[in-house]
Amino acid sequence: MLVLKFGGTSVGSSESLLKVLKIIGSKSEACVVIVSAMNGITDSLAEMFEISLEKGEGYMELLDKIRNRHFDIIREVVPFDRREDCMLNINALFCHLEEILNCITVLKESSKRSRDFVMSFGELFTAHIVVAMLENADFVDARDIIVTDNNFGAANVIWEESKQKIKDKFEYQDRVKLVNGFCGKTRDGYTSSLGRGGSDLSASLIAAALGAECLEIWTDVNGMMTADPRIEPNALTIPRLKYNEAAELSHFGAKVIYTPALWPAIKADIPVYIKNTFDAAKEGTIIDSLGDIKNDEVVKGISSIHDMSLITLCGNGLMGDIGFAGKLFSLMSENKVNIVLISQASSEYSITFAVRGEDSDKAVLLIRNKFSKEFSDGIYSGVLRQDGMAIVAVVGDNMRNVPGRSGKVFSVVGKNSVNINAIAQGASES
Ligand code: ASP
Ligand code: MG
Repeated sequence: MLVLKFGGTSVGSSESLLKVLKIIGSKSEACVVIVSAMNGITDSLAEMFEISLEKGEGYMELLDKIRNRHFDIIREVVPFDRREDCMLNINALFCHLEEILNCITVLKESSKRSRDFVMSFGELFTAHIVVAMLENADFVDARDIIVTDNNFGAANVIWEESKQKIKDKFEYQDRVKLVNGFCGKTRDGYTSSLGRGGSDLSASLIAAALGAECLEIWTDVNGMMTADPRIEPNALTIPRLKYNEAAELSHFGAKVIYTPALWPAIKADIPVYIKNTFDAAKEGTIIDSLGDIKNDEVVKGISSIHDMSLITLCGNGLMGDIGFAGKLFSLMSENKVNIVLISQASSEYSITFAVRGEDSDKAVLLIRNKFSKEFSDGIYSGVLRQDGMAIVAVVGDNMRNVPGRSGKVFSVVGKNSVNINAIAQGASES
């Protein structure tokens, strides 16, 4: 069994959908195919939701625009004998969406639950279109196989229940099945979303539940690169990576896969192929538990994320204050501030961590409020904040066996007059 996932640009135009058709047609095994919404559609759905909450009527213009985009594509890619049915299906979905937006306008129903429902339509549209393009395929609604909790906006999958449902649905099938990515259903029957980029996760869950031969993620670049090609035009595709190398690289910016999406595949030891829909003959990147055994290149890739803020808390009172880090990081997690990097020197005079730029006001305010007494008593001397920073990660599993790698990195950075503000190396040394 193969599990294939096609992202937003792969399903976003007639030309790309014809390439998708060819790729699916080239497989001789049974396949489960997961599709994203066409590129830009999830954003438009979110926008329509906001418009219907705030202004009421104005969403119709956008709705017509995306309806036309889907209909134009259907006319171009769906064979004549299945076209009318497909149009009827898609039209019914658009009518339903319009009804819901209308209800939101009237009721001002602003819950995340309603938002998820609206956002889930994009994947439904594409799944129905791709099913109609194929000779011999069935549509399976993700909501019948993926069970989640009620954390709308980024729901957590209830694994054992979902796994059983996925197996029951697909284990002995021999046709192509089309599944809408990104969403699931709560135990009490509400549509939920798995968070932005969630279609990768849908695909990885299905692959893991079925013990698939492999998971193919079809996107618009030739796999994972040695660096961000917009910054380094000479960046190359990395042919093979270990799971943890891919996780480290994708965490720090290489956006071809949504990081949490890797975990189900890793747990079930399913190889993940990152392939380019627009250049299907290219090898792409293979991610598995072995990685590149033939290539002893120590550094596999460099990734970077921008617009980060470094927050440093310092003071003599920090030295030997057991539990301080726990208090600080619980404070951040309770308030949903994601910490991206942590660094503390053994003198314990200060502790530094990085958050996304958009979270930095909040993080500083939280610290000032929570520790106001310590600040006024002079136990902690201050909180320092540096905005507009970038995190650069150098990734490679073999680094643990080769000394001198960090020296090389820091000396080249220093020679080029780039100042390093904080350093962290995971004990995994990846
Ligand atoms: N369409 C959703 C998003 O844009 C999910 C996905 O494509 O993975 O976030
Ligand atoms: Mg994606």
